[in-house]
Amino acid sequence: MALLQIAEPDLSGNPHQHNIAIGIDLGTTNSLVATVRSGEATVLVNHDGCKLIPSIVNYGKETQIGSQAATLRSTDPSNTIVSVKRFMGRSFADLDTTIRYPYKFVNSSGLIQIDTAQGVKNPVEVSADILRYLRNMAVEALGEEPTGVVITVPAYFDDAQRQATRQAGELAGLNVLRLLNEPTAAAIAYGLDSKNEGTFLVYDLGGGTLDVSILSLTKGVFEVLAVGGDTHLGGDDFDHRLSCYIMEKAGLSQLNDEDSAILLINAKKIKEQLSQSEKASFSVVLSTKRLVNFVITRTEYENLVRHLVQKTLLPVKKALRDAKLDKDQIDEVIMVGGSTRMLLVRQMVGELFGREPLTSINPDEVVAIGASIQADVLVGNKKDDWLLLDVTPLSLGVETMGGLVEKIIPRNSTLPIARAQDFTTYKDGQTAMTVHVVQGERELVKDCRSLAKFTLRGIPQMVAGQARIRITYQIDADGLLSVSAKEMMTGVTSSIEVKPSFGLSDEQIGAMLQESISNANHDMQVRLYQEAVVDAQALIDSVEKALYLDADLLTEEELSQINNAIMKLKITLAKAPDDYAQLTNKIKQQTDDLNQISSNFANRRMDKAIHHALSGRDINEVADKI
Ligand code: AMP
Repeated sequence: MALLQIAEPDLSGNPHQHNIAIGIDLGTTNSLVATVRSGEATVLVNHDGCKLIPSIVNYGKETQIGSQAATLRSTDPSNTIVSVKRFMGRSFADLDTTIRYPYKFVNSSGLIQIDTAQGVKNPVEVSADILRYLRNMAVEALGEEPTGVVITVPAYFDDAQRQATRQAGELAGLNVLRLLNEPTAAAIAYGLDSKNEGTFLVYDLGGGTLDVSILSLTKGVFEVLAVGGDTHLGGDDFDHRLSCYIMEKAGLSQLNDEDSAILLINAKKIKEQLSQSEKASFSVVLSTKRLVNFVITRTEYENLVRHLVQKTLLPVKKALRDAKLDKDQIDEVIMVGGSTRMLLVRQMVGELFGREPLTSINPDEVVAIGASIQADVLVGNKKDDWLLLDVTPLSLGVETMGGLVEKIIPRNSTLPIARAQDFTTYKDGQTAMTVHVVQGERELVKDCRSLAKFTLRGIPQMVAGQARIRITYQIDADGLLSVSAKEMMTGVTSSIEVKPSFGLSDEQIGAMLQESISNANHDMQVRLYQEAVVDAQALIDSVEKALYLDADLLTEEELSQINNAIMKLKITLAKAPDDYAQLTNKIKQQTDDLNQISSNFANRRMDKAIHHALSGRDINEVADKI
C-alpha cells in the first residue's frame, strides 16, 4: 500500500558499489530470507541447509529459534512461542478467548505480553528475535552486514500491526527500508511490476489460512483493491479429511491421541506426494499394534477434497465483488503458499478464471523473493523508478465546535488521496473561520497532534448554519498534505501546506495509536457530551435572540416557562462533568424540553414573518415569486 517510493535518495550509492539488501518473509508459521546476487533472487539457507525457518522462539534456559525451538514445543510449551505474528500490534482485548494458549499472557496497559522463564516478552521482542536469527543467517551466507531490509506483511495488516513489525525489525538491528504487502511482493517476484498496468489476484493457501488479495497496477503503482480469505481454511483441513477417510477405509474408530497424530502425519505426507505422483501409499503400526496399509490414487484423493477447494473459491468470488470486478478483468492469478502445489487447486482456480495461474516460482519462496528484489532496488542496485503505494499512518481531521475532531482522511487511506467535507458557521454574521488541522485517532483536539491552523476570511454575513465552507484535504504521493477552505457562494479560498507524518517518529505514532485504543470508550463519552453541549448552547443562543426580538408574541406564563427551561439548561451546562454519560443524557433531555416549550413561539414567529412579507403586496406578485 503505498506509496510511491522509489529508490531512497540517500541510499542510491555510487554506481559501482553493490549494496547487500535482503528481503524477509516474516510468516506466521515459517519465515524466509532472500537476496539478489548477480541479478538473481535466491533464498538463503541456514547452517543446516534449511530455507524455511519455523517462526518459533523458545525462552527456556537459553533462547532457541527456528527448528530447535520447534522441537521444544511439546516438552516446554509455556516457554515456546508460536504464531506470534497473530499478536503483533494487537491489544489485550483482541485476544481470541476461544483459543486455549499454553502460555501465560500479561496485560500491560492494554498490550499483550507473555510471561516466560526469561521474563516478560512482548510480541515485538519475539518477532525481533526471529528477525535477528534471519539477519545472522544472511550475514553468515553473504559474509557482510546487509545495508537494508524489506519485510513483508499481510495486505490486511493495519497501521498498528505494521508499526509493530517495523519496530521488531529495528530492534533486531536491521535498517528497515520498507514494509511490503505480501501479495505485492509475489507480483514483483513474477515481474508483473514491469507491465505498468494490470489487475492481479493473489491466491495464498497455506497450512491454516487462505488469503486472497486483488491488486491493481497503474503507472507502476500497486494498490490493494480488495482483501479477503478464510482464517480457518488451509492444508490442515485437507490432512484431516484424508485421515478421516483412512480411518473409514481401515475400519478404525475412536483412536487415542497418539494414533490420531500418526494418521494425520501420514495423511499429510501422502497428500504432498500426490502433488507429484498418481498414487501414494503408507504402512504404519499403531500403538494398539494394529497394522494399517493404505493406498490411494490422485483421482480418489481429488474426489475426496473437491468440496474443500470449492470452499476456497467463495472468498475469491467475494473479493472480486468487493473490488467490483468481473473475473475476466483479472489479468494474472498468482499462486502463493504450500497448498497451491495441489494440482486440483491449480486446476479449479484456473477454471474459474479461464487462465493458467502463475506457478513457476516455488509458492513458499515467492514472497521472500519479491521482497529481496524490492530491497535490491531500494538500496540503489537497480536504477528503476519503482513505485509502491503508501498509506496515512494516522487520521487527519479538523477541529469543530466543542474542541472535537471531525476526521476527514481516515488512517490507512491509500495515498495519494483527496477528501472534502462541507462545514458551516456557528454564529450569525460570522465572517471568518479558523481551520485547525489535527492528526490522531482521539476524539478531542487536545489529545491529537496539532499540525497547522489558518483562517478563512471574507465569508459573507449570514445566519448561523447557512454558509457552506468546503474544506478539502489532499495528500500527494510524497505524503505532503495541503488543506484548503472555500466559501462556496463567493468562492473565497484560503489554504496551507503541511507535512503530516514526517514530524512524528514511529514511537510517537505507536504511542498515539496505543492511547486511542485504551481511551476509546472515555473519548466517545466525552465526544457525545461535547456535542450535547454545543447543541444546547446553540439552541439557547437562538431562543434568547428570538426573545430579544419577539417576546411580545408570548403570554407572561409562556415567557416564564421558556426562561425557566433556559435557566435549568444553563445550570446543567455549568456543572463539571463527573459522570459524562449521565450529564450528557440530562443535557439532551433539557435541550429537548426547551425545544418543545419554545416550538409554539417559533411557529408564531414564522407566522409573523410571513405576514410581514406579504403585507401590502399583490397576491399575484407573491405567487410569481413562489
Ligand atoms: P505454508 O503455510 O505456505 O508453508 O503451507 C503449508 C501447507 O502446504 C501445509 O498444509 C503443507 O502440507 C502444504 N504443502 C506443502 N507441500 C505440498 C505439496 N507438495 N502438496 C500439497 N500440499 C503441500
